[in-house]
Parts: sequence; structure tokens; C-alpha cells
Amino acid sequence: MEVFGSSGARGVVNDELTPRFALELSGAVGTVLEPDTFVVARDTRTSGKMITAAVMSGLMSCGKTVRDIGVVPTPGVQWYAAEHHVPGVIITASHNPPEYNGIKLVNEKGIELRIEELEEIERVFDQESFNHVEWQDVGSATRVDGAGEGYVERVIDSLPVQRITDADLTVAVDPGHGAGSVTNPRIYRELGCRVVTINSYPDGKFPGRNPEPVPENLSDLCSFVTAENADLGIAHDGDADRAVFVDEHGECIDGDAALAALASVVLEDGDVVVSSVNVSQRLVNVVQESDASLELTPVGSTYILNRVRELKDAGERVPIAGEGNGGIIFPEYQLGRDGAFVAGRFMDLIGDETASEIIAPYDSYFTQRDNVPVESEADLARKLEAIKREANVDSEASVSTVDGFRFDYGDGWVLVRPSGTEPLVRIYAEAQSHGRAKEYAQRMKTVLKDAA
Ligand code: MG
Repeated sequence: MEVFGSSGARGVVNDELTPRFALELSGAVGTVLEPDTFVVARDTRTSGKMITAAVMSGLMSCGKTVRDIGVVPTPGVQWYAAEHHVPGVIITASHNPPEYNGIKLVNEKGIELRIEELEEIERVFDQESFNHVEWQDVGSATRVDGAGEGYVERVIDSLPVQRITDADLTVAVDPGHGAGSVTNPRIYRELGCRVVTINSYPDGKFPGRNPEPVPENLSDLCSFVTAENADLGIAHDGDADRAVFVDEHGECIDGDAALAALASVVLEDGDVVVSSVNVSQRLVNVVQESDASLELTPVGSTYILNRVRELKDAGERVPIAGEGNGGIIFPEYQLGRDGAFVAGRFMDLIGDETASEIIAPYDSYFTQRDNVPVESEADLARKLEAIKREANVDSEASVSTVDGFRFDYGDGWVLVRPSGTEPLVRIYAEAQSHGRAKEYAQRMKTVLKDAA
């Protein structure tokens, strides 16, 4: 997949992601996908309206009717698409910095398109073989309000409201000025929580923090949790399909620990869990203890969702899937990620135990994440060649190449892979001490730096 990376088509606005690109890509979408009506929605980015206008033009040029539902979290668009049986185009760059935007597609069941369908769209895009209709058949567009409200109700109806209300929680919410600002504080209020917020108005300049919910961007939320005596802090990414938590002491909860804790309560003997090649040992342990099995895919929700769908089609029970970045999927609820739903499921664990107590059994691992910038294709090739050499000479590690290079050392592991969305090589390491995780990450960082 060239145009669609591991999380849709993304790029810097007016550089890679121009209105012309959006127009032609949506022309290809309108050519390949048969339904007459499409829903279009966006996150809060400054370029959202510009890219939306181009996408709507592209679809209308193929004779499609377009419903513009405005700023709605990605899971809300997926719900709308499924509810109204219309495919959707979502204008979002998720967790990427403010200068980025992107285009993501879902079908009329609200599920990401299959890789083969995306490849067909890419082929039409490359060949410019658009199915443009004649003047009397061009499509129209209407603005539809209220999709956010429908989504709020849907999430609440899918959660044990009374149990969560009875826990009498105070939650501190940080939607990071993203699409979650318009719906999620309300969801948590309707779940019976006392809700306090920061960075909770929609703003595409993201003045409070970067849209990626990683610990270095969440220091304000951590202090806020302590100041407000909250039971839980909840942070979302730009399109609110992910949720990351802060415990009652104002400490960030590792996403891998949250995933393991949620998995431990839903898994039964014979279940299958799908995660990516950067899977944490914590989830591996929970899966083993539950007599379930684990399947690994390349990094990225598209690959995970594809595999979940195949397993479900084959009759397997897959109650949970996802990654340690807060992107958790409960396939029986929706074949996609939903930050608010995941937050509700986590709240449901809090009652007799505090957030830190829930996480304690999964807290004995430490992760280290690093990024090394890439200057050019040639630079990337040199860096990957150096890692490949390292894989051949490092006799301590067993190496897997499902996606990038994963070095397993027995007491920890490190994964090195190029980012699907940014000019970076990403390094993930995990070990039972922070020093060890840092050491594994540093080892790879040195190899990458020496390559340049
Ligand atoms: Mg996202």
C-alpha cells in the first residue's frame, strides 16, 4: 500500500496532503465504492474544512450524495456509517502533530476497508481512471447535525451505566482539543461521574498539548488529577479512538498495562487475542494464564482489524484486541477502536480497587520508546541496512521480522521499525527494569545513528 499507510493516507497539509490529492483520492473512492451516499466527518484540525471540501467535490463528481456531519470522533463516524448503512470518509491525522491531516475510509458497516479494497482505490488513483459522471448526474451535499448525540447515546447504551454510577468516580478528562472535546466529557457525565476537564474545547492549533497521548504530553493532566483528587485521568488522541489513563496518584498508566488488565477480565479458555509485533510481555502472560492464544500482525490498527475480521469469520471468539498505545478493540462492541468505550470499560474495573491497584499486577515491566528522525529514502535504507547487519551479528537475541526487526533477549525485547506515518524510525523496548529497557533502546539508537 503506497497511498494508504498503516493508518490511512496521512501527510503534512499543502505539502503531501494537498486539496488536489484529497480531490483525486476521493474521486478514486467514489469510482470504486458502489453506494450512492457517503458520510464525511473530520477532527478539529485547521485544515479540516479545506480537505473536507475537496473530498466532497471528489465524491460528488462521481455522482455521490454526501452528508457532512462535521467534527465527530472517528468511532462516532463508524457508528453513524453502520447505523445509516453508508460508507464514510474521515478527515483526521489522529495523533499526528497539528500540521498533518489525513484521509481514512470505512465501509457501510463502519469498518475499515479491506487491504484489497484500498489497493483497488490506489490503482484508480494512480491511473486517474475516475468514473466522473455527466453534468445532470453530479451529486449533492447536505450538512447533517446531531451525529455526535447519537454516538453519545450509543456508547452509554453499551456500558454498565448503573455499576459505573455506583462507583461514584471523579474523572479528569483531557481530549487534547481534538474531536473527543465535543462528545466525551458528556459521555462520562452521563455515566454518573463527576467530570473535570482540561484542553477540552475544539482547537486545531492544539494550544494545550500535542494530540499524541504519550506521557511527555500529559504532565498537565497528571497534575490536574492530583489537584482535583480524581480517581482516574483519561486522555484521548486527536480523533478520540484511543484512550490513555492516569491513576489516582497522577501517574501515567502504561497502555500495555491497561490492555493487560482489561484482557484479564474478558478472556476465557480458547479465546484468541490479536495484537501487533510490539506486543508487551504483560499481554503475553495474561493470554497464557487464560489458556487463550495470541496472534501477532504488523504494527497498525488496519492489520489488527483485518486479522480480527478473518478470525471472527472463521468462527473464533476474539473478545479483545489492540495495542499498548491506548488503541484497544472490543470486537463484540465494534470492529474498530473507541476511546470513550475503552474508558468506560476501564471505569467499570474501578470500584473496590483503585486504578493503581488494578494496574499493580502488570506494573513490573518498563517500556522505553524512542524516535530517530529520517532525512531521506537513502538515509532510511542505510539505517535499515545497519539494523539488518546487527540482527545477523547479535548472537544474544532471537530476531523476528514480521514488521521491522524485533530482537528478543529473554528478559526483554526491542523492536525497530520505520514509522508508517512520519519520517522516523521508531524504537520500542520492554524489560523488567527501566535501566534494561533503556539500554536495549539505546543499543539500537546507536546502531541507527552510526549508520548516518
Ligand atoms: Mg486515533
